[in-house]
Amino acid sequence: MSRFDRVLVVDWSANSTPKLGADSIWIGRAGSHSQPPENIATRAATMEMLHAEIRAALVAGERLLITFDIGFGFPRGFAEHLTGSAEALAVWDWLSVRIEDDAQNRNNRFEVAAAINRCFPGIGPFWGRPNTRDLADLPAKGTAREGHGLAELRATEAICSGAHPMWKLYTTGSVGSQSLLGQAHLARLRTVFPDSVAVWPMETPDKPVVLAETYLSLINPAVKTARGYACKDAAQVDLLARAFFSAEMAQLMAAPAAPEILREEGWILGAGHEAALLANLPDPALIPPRLRNDCFAMPQGVDWVPVDLALERLRAALHPLTRVEDIATHQAGGRVLAALLRAHRANPPAANSAVDGYGFAHAALAGDGPYTLPLVTGRAAAGQPFGGTVAAGQAIRILTGAILPAGVDTVVLEEDCASDGARVAFDGPVKPRANSRKAGEDVGADAEFLPAGRVLTPADLALTSALGVGHVRVHERLRVGVLSTGDELLSDPAAEAQPHQIYDANRPMLLEIARRWGYVPVDLGQWPDDPAKISAALDQGAQHCDVIFTSGGASAGDEDHVSRLLREQGSLSSWRIALKPGRPLALALWQGVPVFGLPGNPVAALVCTLVFGRPALSLMAGSGWQTPQGFQLEAAFTKRKKAGRREYLRARVTSDGQVEVFGSEGSGRISGLSWAEGLVELGDNAETVTPGKPVRYIPFSSFGL
Ligand code: AMP
Ligand code: MG
Repeated sequence: MSRFDRVLVVDWSANSTPKLGADSIWIGRAGSHSQPPENIATRAATMEMLHAEIRAALVAGERLLITFDIGFGFPRGFAEHLTGSAEALAVWDWLSVRIEDDAQNRNNRFEVAAAINRCFPGIGPFWGRPNTRDLADLPAKGTAREGHGLAELRATEAICSGAHPMWKLYTTGSVGSQSLLGQAHLARLRTVFPDSVAVWPMETPDKPVVLAETYLSLINPAVKTARGYACKDAAQVDLLARAFFSAEMAQLMAAPAAPEILREEGWILGAGHEAALLANLPDPALIPPRLRNDCFAMPQGVDWVPVDLALERLRAALHPLTRVEDIATHQAGGRVLAALLRAHRANPPAANSAVDGYGFAHAALAGDGPYTLPLVTGRAAAGQPFGGTVAAGQAIRILTGAILPAGVDTVVLEEDCASDGARVAFDGPVKPRANSRKAGEDVGADAEFLPAGRVLTPADLALTSALGVGHVRVHERLRVGVLSTGDELLSDPAAEAQPHQIYDANRPMLLEIARRWGYVPVDLGQWPDDPAKISAALDQGAQHCDVIFTSGGASAGDEDHVSRLLREQGSLSSWRIALKPGRPLALALWQGVPVFGLPGNPVAALVCTLVFGRPALSLMAGSGWQTPQGFQLEAAFTKRKKAGRREYLRARVTSDGQVEVFGSEGSGRISGLSWAEGLVELGDNAETVTPGKPVRYIPFSSFGL
């Protein structure tokens, strides 16, 4: 059985109202692109999401494994007695026409369980209910049951320590309730995708989408040491998805019991394979901790923060946030190395010729030349080594890249030789080891050749490949969420704007910057100045991103809802930075995720992103704090600047190498941003720039653009 392209692990829930956070529905996702765990408030929304995932997988031709922490079957005898067929999937169908579960999680599972109990002799098998639900035939206590004739555990539960019986419907570990609801939903899902979904182990797992049950505690030792998760459920689904993704599925899915047991009771995927699953998990020490809530606090009494102090504080506050993964070298362009690279092999691996020509032993040349040497039969070429030895005083035809044969240490360039096919003649003097490359002269075997934190360039891929390194450990790509706020904004530039509306310019700019920096841009949309909506967008962002950039509403004015929200709920530090253009930079944590509240003004938003966002994101992405390289160039402009703040001017280099600035410093002049190819940085002190005076020019390329 081939492996899956993606794995989803669903921590299902029997909640009767919409709920987020611990003990609600969490979905872990693993695949070639890792994603953070997702939290969904209702079963209905979860099923909608799963339908969309399945459709996307089918369109992409991907194989998808979806596992649920519910029982797919009940102990032996149950299915046949209830449905007339000893098949778990018959119970699914039976439940799907009886279970009601609405968009708000309101459901009739206790009533259905009571109805099932009535089909069996005695009392039970289902038990457990809230005290407020006095249902005849559904005892509140397990000990009240008798005579129903069914076993307490399934065969699979007997080998899974701690797994709860399917009959228990209420309080901790009540897998029964989750299973009644889950089986009904999954039965409906099967009918929507009849040809593409298989249920393991009742069916052969050879369809594009396979559903299986699992038990989240299988990997508990890893969950205990995991850090950086919103809650235990998030850690469980994330780690188990990763473990399943890298597991040998053929082993995990090899028939674990007799076919009739599997068809009727089902089986917990991974049961009995706990050690193998744990062995596949990343080292928990490599999972970075979250940021501290007070990490952006500025000391009391600091009013205007100079740019350099702001940068220093930012650097101290942040640390790498992304986890690491191992990927193939050829896919690693633009990724950040998480561990230094060591050569598996030297470059060049053996001494070889740097030119096309004739090779021989230098020591055997007598006198100053000219020389005539007899040629041995055969030749040495790249990929076609000469197997014999070239005796002292003889020469061999040799081509570029060919390993130097035994007896050869020096090569004379073909153009400097004459040959009749039997002999070769050339002039002296010839330097020993001329035109030859020593083994390892570039990089020795086992040498460290690239440091952790390196963003892999095209040339790095050449080097890494040449040194025989096929896989590299890299940081996952930083996920950068971008959202715009403002009642005046219109998202779609193709839509017709009212006079009071302007098109959202910041979001496309910031998303493209994130992409160019090698991160995953996450579009969190454009929102009116409405705290509830912005708050919901930040919630989304906190779930899907490592860092969020907002623009607009970051000052302290009436309509500055972003800063208000962040102050109330996100431990905001508003940094009044002595910088033009740029107003306060709002820094906060939203559910542990850093938020950069940028000014709405596109010019200020870009400058703040380059000056503060660039080094901060590099640090969080694992590539360290990056200071942009500037150049001293002669000014082609005049400017008087006041003391007390740093200024950045939109600039570019003229054809004769001076730096010119955009005609207007107006902060709404987006055309100047587009015109510019870099920024001129004027220091914190007063300064008068006149033509010819050197100024510091930082090209956009120094900011990674
Ligand atoms: P604010 O920071 O919200 O007070 O906005 C400052 C200025 O930037 C106002 O003129 C806004 O209309 C403008 N602005 C805010 N967000 C954007 C955006 N996404 N695109 C273009 N202009 C914006
Ligand atoms: Mg605004």
